[in-house]
Amino acid sequence: MAMISSGFSLNNASKHNMTVTELINKNIKTAFSFEILPPIKGNNIEKVYSIIDKLIEFDPQYINITTHHSEFVDQSMADGSIKKINIRKRPGSVAIAAAIQYKYGVTAIPHMICKGFSKEETEYALIDLNFLGVHNLLLLQGDSKRLAPEQIYPNRNEYATDLQVQVNNFNEGNAMDGSEFEKNATPFAYGMACYPEMHEDAKSIESDIYYMKQKADNGAEYFVTQMFFDNQKYFSFVDRCRKEGITQPIIPGVKPVVLMSQLEVLPKIFRSSIPEELAVELRKCKTDEESKEVGIEWGIKQCKELISYGVPSLHFYSLMATESVRRIAKEIY
Ligand SMILES: Cc1cc2nc3c(=O)[nH]c(=O)nc-3n(C[C@H](O)[C@H](O)[C@H](O)COP(=O)(O)OP(=O)(O)OC[C@H]3O[C@@H](n4cnc5c(N)ncnc54)[C@H](O)[C@@H]3O)c2cc1C
Repeated sequence: MAMISSGFSLNNASKHNMTVTELINKNIKTAFSFEILPPIKGNNIEKVYSIIDKLIEFDPQYINITTHHSEFVDQSMADGSIKKINIRKRPGSVAIAAAIQYKYGVTAIPHMICKGFSKEETEYALIDLNFLGVHNLLLLQGDSKRLAPEQIYPNRNEYATDLQVQVNNFNEGNAMDGSEFEKNATPFAYGMACYPEMHEDAKSIESDIYYMKQKADNGAEYFVTQMFFDNQKYFSFVDRCRKEGITQPIIPGVKPVVLMSQLEVLPKIFRSSIPEELAVELRKCKTDEESKEVGIEWGIKQCKELISYGVPSLHFYSLMATESVRRIAKEIY
């Protein structure tokens, strides 16, 4: 079957055809990347650009864009009644990815998720991304906490490994309906997630690493970790993965603490433990302004240690923390 190129060409097209590991390897310094969320429905894309504008000077090798399924929310009606409506609070990941590549010439990595999406919707998103010249993805199961039963489609991907099979099939030119289509000149390359402190649904760290190895063997190019605050957890996790034969880069996810409440919230939501040394400093804070300063100081220390360990790249979770990421980046780059 003939090879076709994607729908348009960008000035930076050859750069966007590079995979994340190629981008990281061409960089002399430890690479820098960050994640942004699409704006809440009704807001415009300037919100995204204003975050990127504050971080662009640190030469991000790529920028991730999260994806969110729709959810049922209560809406007050004119007659005073409450109706459940289904809305996607943060739509637009595919378009934002293309817009970022156009405007900044930086490789964009939209997240593809299983939860709340049928396999058909995923296939259409892949077709759009291919036409737009976006060739790098992060494949995930997705958050399902607010998923309604009616959004659990029969024809869905359950685990990230199922989504991986779908993307691999797409790369091979096999469509969902069994027909063949033209293979992309640039197949999708992708990373996947991993959890130094274990995923909440995992039976054990061994089973988590077992599935991670499956992801690695089936084509994941690299892994991005859940946020962690204790570098030792990352170092020992990487050691375990290497012993199991996982050779791909394992990119640390760094989240600067901003709010005092995150001392309690982050371990609960993300299973990311807060080291006592950091907890002590956060407990002393009387305002979020103070906890933000503690988070920045910790982030600088954490990143310096990760760089001296030789991590391939640092990936920042920048939600509510753009200024903190900026100050950390200023110190380490
Ligand atoms: C870097 C990063 C980015 C994220 N971005 C988003 C986002 O944009 N949108 C969003 O909604 N959520 C996002 N999340 C949250 C993530 O989707 C959730 O943590 C989700 O619960 C797990 O995703 P996963 O891809 O690791 O799942 P999976 O790989 O499917 O793993 C989930 C659990 O199932 C187990 N497992 C894996 N494969 C199998 C299998 N084949 N059979 C049985 N068990 C299996 C694993 O060991 C693990 O315990 C992100 C998380 C990270 C770390």
